[in-house]
Formats: sequence, C-alpha cells, structure tokens
Amino acid sequence: MRSISDTSVNDRYRVPKPKGIKEVPAYIGRVVANFFSRLFYIFRLVWDTKRSLLFIMVFMAVFNGVMPVIGSIIGAQIINKLADAYSGALAAFGVIAVLLILQFAYTFINQAISRLYATVTSVSGEQVSNHVKMLIMEKAKEVDMVSYDSPDFYARMENANREAGMRPIQIMSSTFSVLSTVISIVSYVIVLFAVSWWSPWLIILVSIPTTIVNFVYKKKNVNYMFFRSKSRRQMDYYASTMIDKDLVKEIRMFDLGDTFTDKYKATFDDYYKGLRKLRIEETLWGLGAAVVTSVVYCLLYIFLARGVFRHEFAVGDFSLYTGAITAIGAGVSSFIASTANIYEGTLFIENLISFLNEKPTIVPSLPEPRHVERGTGHTIQFKNVFFRYQGMERDVLKDINLTINEGETVVIVGLNGAGKTTLVKLLTRLYDPSRGTVLLDGHDIKEYDVKELYDMFGMIFQDFGKYAVTAGENIVFGDIERKAGPEEVRDAAKKSGADVYIEKLDNGYDTPLMRYFEANGAELSIGQWQKLAIARAFYSDSDILILDEPTASLDPMAEQEIFNQFNELRHNKTSIFISHRLSSATIADTILVMEDGRIVEKGSHKELMEMRGKYYTLFSTQAARYVEEGENI
Ligand code: ADP
Repeated sequence: MRSISDTSVNDRYRVPKPKGIKEVPAYIGRVVANFFSRLFYIFRLVWDTKRSLLFIMVFMAVFNGVMPVIGSIIGAQIINKLADAYSGALAAFGVIAVLLILQFAYTFINQAISRLYATVTSVSGEQVSNHVKMLIMEKAKEVDMVSYDSPDFYARMENANREAGMRPIQIMSSTFSVLSTVISIVSYVIVLFAVSWWSPWLIILVSIPTTIVNFVYKKKNVNYMFFRSKSRRQMDYYASTMIDKDLVKEIRMFDLGDTFTDKYKATFDDYYKGLRKLRIEETLWGLGAAVVTSVVYCLLYIFLARGVFRHEFAVGDFSLYTGAITAIGAGVSSFIASTANIYEGTLFIENLISFLNEKPTIVPSLPEPRHVERGTGHTIQFKNVFFRYQGMERDVLKDINLTINEGETVVIVGLNGAGKTTLVKLLTRLYDPSRGTVLLDGHDIKEYDVKELYDMFGMIFQDFGKYAVTAGENIVFGDIERKAGPEEVRDAAKKSGADVYIEKLDNGYDTPLMRYFEANGAELSIGQWQKLAIARAFYSDSDILILDEPTASLDPMAEQEIFNQFNELRHNKTSIFISHRLSSATIADTILVMEDGRIVEKGSHKELMEMRGKYYTLFSTQAARYVEEGENI
C-alpha cells in the first residue's frame, strides 16, 4: 500500500503529464531537457571531484569504440591469408606472422587499458561518492528542524544517501560507454554496408522491442524504489532496534526481539514480493524480445553463408561480417542498456538534486542580517505567538505574550505536554512561530544572523547528546567556539559535580566515553551523563542559558543546588530553566506556569503562592508528596 508521504516524494520528480495530444511535443521537450540538465549536474559533480577522470573517460570511450573494429579486421585478414596459403596463393609466411603478432598486441593493449580503466574508475568512484556524501552532510547541517518532523523528509534523505554511493560514477561510465558503443556501431555499419545496405538497419530495427522493455522497466523500478522508501526505512529501523545500545535492555526484558524480527520479516516479504514480480515480468518481456532478435540474426547468418557458397566473398570476410552483425547487435544492446541505466540514474539523482537544492526557511529575513551583540544582557519578547507543528490539527502554543528582561532568571513549570519545550524552541529560533513575533532586544528574531543567534544561546536539552568522544570533549561541546583550556573544562565539571567521577576514570578527562570504538571506553550512569551535560552549560559562555530538564534524574535537592549555582554565577546573564519540580522554581525572579499551550500564571514564588491559583495547588501537592515520602523513609 502506498502511503501519502511516499507518493508525494515521487511526485516531486515528475514532469507533469500532457493533458492533450497538442501538449505531447512540449512534454517530450521537457522530459529531454530535464534529462540533460540532470546529466549535466552529474558531470559537474564528477568535474568538481576529479577533473582528470573526465579526460580519462573520453579517451577510453574513443579507444573502446575503435579498437574492436580494428581487432575484427586483423582477425579477418589472418583467416583470408591462411585460406590463401592453404590454396597455395600466398608464398611468404612472414605476412601471417606479422598479422598474428599484431592481433596479440591488440589483445594485450585492450586488456591492459581495460584493467587500468577499471582501477581508475573504482578509485575515483570512491572519491566522487565521498564528495556527494560530504554535500549531503553539509546540507543536513542547514536543514530546518521542522523537516525532521516529516516522513517525506526522511524518505528523501534515505533516497539521497542511497544514491550517494557509486551512482554518479555509474552514470558517467554509462554515458561514455554510450559514446564508445556509437563509435563502434558506426564503424561496423560501414563494414557491413559492403555486404548489403539494408542489414545494419534490420539489426537496429529488431532491437526496438528490447529498447521499449528496458526503458519501461527502468522507470517502473525507479518508481518502485521511491514508493518503497518507507518500507526500507521501516526495515532499517526494526533492524537497528536490535543493536541500539539504549533499547537493547528493554528489548531483552520485554522480550521484544521476536516482535521486531517478525515486523522486519513481514515488511521485507511485502517489499520483496513487489520487487520479484517486477523482475520476473521484466525477464519474460526481455525473453520475448530476445526470440525476435535471435530469429532475425539466424536468417542473416544463413544469408551470409549463402554468399560464401556462391563465392561472393571469402571465408575471412564471412567471419568479418558475422562478427560485425554480432558486434552491432551487442553494441545496440549495450547502447540500450547504457542509455536505460543513465535514464534510471538521472531519475534517481533527481531526488539527490532536490535534496541538495532544498532551501532552509530558518534564514535571516534581512539581506544584511542583524548582528547579535554579545556579552550583554538581552531582552526577549513574545507577542501574540501561536505555534502548531506541521501536520497537527491544534495549536501547541496559544497567544503567548511574555517579556524576559536582561539578567532575569526564569523558571517555566507545567505538566508534561504543556508546551514548555516548544516555547524555548521558538525562543531560540529552532522553529518559527505560526503567527505572532518573537523579539530579541526589540527586533524580530528573524532579522538576526542565525549562526550568531545559536552561538548566543547555551541550551541543554532534556534528551541531550551523549557523544562517543572523551569526557573533556563532551564538556567542550557546550561551547565549541570558546577558546578555553583544560582548566576551564575542569572548573565546569567541578561546578556540576561531574569532576568527582571523571577524575576517577582511567585517563581522567581524556577517557573516551562509551565502547563504540574503544575497548577501555567508560560507560556512565544516566545521572553521571546528566552532570556532564550540566557541565556543558557551566562551560558555555552563552548570554542566555536554557536548561530543559536535563536534571530530571538528579534528586530534587541536587537540582535545586544546580539552579542556585547558575543563578549566582551568571550575575547579569539571563537564565531559563524548565522543570516539573516546583521546589526548584523558588529561586526564580519570574515563574511562568504553562497549561495546555498558554501561560496561565506569572510572577515570583511569593506572588504566585499568595494568588492561590494553579501554582499554589501544584506546589502544595508536590510539597505534600515530598513530606509523605520523607516520612516513609
Ligand atoms: P513540554 O515540554 O511541556 O512537556 P512540549 O513542548 O514538548 O511539552 O510538547 C507540547 C505538545 O506538542 C505535546 O502535545 C507534544 O505531543 C507536541 N509535540 C512536541 N514536539 C512535537 C513535534 N516535533 N511534532 C508534533 N508534535 C509535537
């Protein structure tokens, strides 16, 4: 079954179908123009990676085109001279010896150049593939966060990654092979004209059914691959659950192994069924076309044999002409296969091009972006902000009006799903509001240089990254632009309490974390990881610090202590904390209480307690629970 997203992926690459007969020429024109523009794009990719490769390919194309004809002519000459010698018409053996030496020299040169060519293309292919992968990575860096919410994006990325491999070099190779095939076909056609003017055309004519089968099935194959991106991603996902370090515990304990293997198998069976049907159909049609070709070839051979019988030409010429027929046939097949491959490749590559040409929307709205003034306090304002995630039916943030003054410490509280994280995603411009404006220092946040903006924020997410690098590097990732030494790293670790365990690791701050790559990598507990993430925040020299509950695994006292420390250390810098523990909120200058996408209460702890509203109720409930838990201990 096709999903909506899979269909939309494919629709991007279609040249709109003609609506009437009158539009057909224009349609064909667009298809051809599209084809050549894609081909040109691939040439440029290869040109940008390795210019010499293009020259080598042109040389090889001409060489491969001319050489087989030369080989056939030498071969025919040898047979004719041998036949003459047999009948006593040729006295000197030297001529035959020279011809034989020439033929072996020809075979050797052919082999040597083919090997050399195979080596050059496989080595250069790796370089081209690497170049394309780098382009994809560069693109992934600037893709909007919002793209990651859409299956369509994942489908395009999966398709682009799949094509990044040897596809461009294959297309190039096929293009040059078309060139050499054309040279070789033309040369053999000239040879065959000596026998009859119509035989070359007949051979070309009978190749039409094969051509149609090839092109139709290449197109069907491309469509199938696009439509089934979802199945392939599902298979990748089910397979990855078995080897994902974070999931493997649960998979064992909940005994989910068979469930995911079964899901994988069911998806594969369905995927494979379609693919097999396509391949079998293609083979059957191909066989049908081959029967037609074989019958025509057989009749041509009989015609030639009759020529020898009637002394119209020599035995060596028979071998030359039958060789020419076979070579033209093979040339036409190779021409069809190569052009069909190029056609298929350009259809695939269209997806890559569209992925690489995607324009991010999180860009400055001004041609000359505003610069972010660093090292000062900042004011943030939300004016009538609404936000809805793509494809959702309801607003996640509703009419948010809010001012955060410079140097303020703000704590956002509220139940799960209230919209706290979404609010900070808008505040940091990871997403743009659906309606309304976010202002930074009085200007629309969209006017600023995005990189400078992101540099200004120090953000530690709830699901912060756990990187398989050293403990020290994990801390430095908190502010990679900052020019600081090991002293500052140690200082940050000390403030978050991570120093206690890091110093006990085999190589201290230089110890690699996790065992993906190093056998002596250290495995940390979730609480230890959280302290490391918080050390990143202490290390960061950001103007606005945002902690989105990375402290959830620490006990309430430790969390409060960390918030206190930030509050004291950051003096006039703005800090925003998200927590579901209201005890931690007491340190804040301003507490924002969120419920169902709205800010329902706002004020200091004292003010909100006196108000006896939502905050008061939540706070009293949590406090009572802590007292109860305390009594139970
Ligand atoms: P909180 O941080 O208060 O727990 P969030 O801001 O993370 O809440 O989420 C608010 C609402 O938005 C939730 O209902 C959640 O399901 C939804 N949501 C969060 N992220 C996405 C997303 N990427 N796409 C669609 N819905 C989302």
